[in-house]
Amino acid sequence: MTEPVPDAARMREVAPGVLEVFLPLPSKPSIVNVFLIALGGERWALVDTGTGREESRAALDEALARRGIEPEALTELLATHHHPDHFGASAWLKARGTRIHLSALERDRVAYALNASAEDMLVHGRRHGMPIPAQPTGAPSPMDLWAASFQPATEPDHLPEDGEVLELGTRRFQAIWTPGHTPGHLCWLDLESRILFVGDHLLPKITPHVGVFATSPPNPLGDFLASQEKVAALDVALVCPAHGGVYADHRHRAGQLVAHHEHRLRVMADLLQAGPKSAFEVTRQAFAWVFEDGVNRFQIGAAVMETIAHLELLAVRGTVPRTLGEDGVVRFG
Ligand SMILES: [Zn+2]
Repeated sequence: MTEPVPDAARMREVAPGVLEVFLPLPSKPSIVNVFLIALGGERWALVDTGTGREESRAALDEALARRGIEPEALTELLATHHHPDHFGASAWLKARGTRIHLSALERDRVAYALNASAEDMLVHGRRHGMPIPAQPTGAPSPMDLWAASFQPATEPDHLPEDGEVLELGTRRFQAIWTPGHTPGHLCWLDLESRILFVGDHLLPKITPHVGVFATSPPNPLGDFLASQEKVAALDVALVCPAHGGVYADHRHRAGQLVAHHEHRLRVMADLLQAGPKSAFEVTRQAFAWVFEDGVNRFQIGAAVMETIAHLELLAVRGTVPRTLGEDGVVRFG
C-alpha cells in the first residue's frame, strides 16, 4: 500500500525554480499558496508565509525538507500584505534569520492590528447603521479572532517602495504597490521570467475583500480599481496568486474584477434611488444572502465594510451624496 501524500505537504513546480506550496488554513478558503523561489547559490526567497499556526509552519518545513532546502537557506521573505494567512508566520521566520521585506504601510497595519480595540469597530459599525447594542456581549476583539494565526514580525528588515527593484542572487524583483485589498499591498514581479506574485490582489476564482474599516484609507475600492489598471499595464507571463491555481491572462482577470465591482456599484446606486440609506440598510438588500440563517456576525461585518467601500466610491464619483445624520449615522443617496 502506498502512503498517501499528506495534504499539508503538497507542492509543485510552476516554473523553473519556482515552487508553489499549499499551506492549510483554518477556514475558507482552506488553502493559501506560498511560493519558494530559487535565487541561485543555495539561497531561496519565499513569497508570503501562511499563518503562524503550528500545522502551517510544519507543512512549510516539510516542503523545505522534501526539496532539501535548509531553513537558513530561506534568506528572504517577499511579503505581499499583513493579513494572517500571508504574514502570520513572519516572526518565526525572522527568528530563523530570514530577512523580511514588507511595505511601510503594511508594517503600520501590523502595529494597528496588534493594538486594535473592539471599541473602534463598534463605533465604526454604529456610524454605518449596524444595530449594535450599547453593551454588546461576547464581541471578540480583532486579536481574539486572529491570535493563533497571527505572529507577525513587527520590525521588517526592509520597507520596499513602489517600483523599487531588489537584486537577490540571480533574480531581480520589482515591488508593485497595489493598494485596495489592504493599503500597502505589494505584488512582486520577477523581471526576467515576468512572473507576477499577486498575493490577494488578482485571484483567479474569488474577488478579494475590499472594505472600509475603522481606520482605513477613505476610498479603498477606488484604489483597488486603479491598482487593477496598473497591473493590467504590466507585461506578465504567469500570475501566481495566493488562492487558486496559477494562470496566464492577467489582463482578462483584471477586467473581470473591474466589471464585477462596476456591476455592484450600479446595483447599490439603484437601491438608493428610493431614498437615502445607511450602509447597513444597503447591505441587507445588496448582500441579502449573508443574513440567512447560519451565517455569522463576522461575515455580516465583512459585507457591511465591503458595502461602505462601494458607497464611498459612489460618493467620490458624485453619483450619490453622503450625509451625516443628527443620529450620528452616515447615509448615502
Ligand atoms: Zn488578504
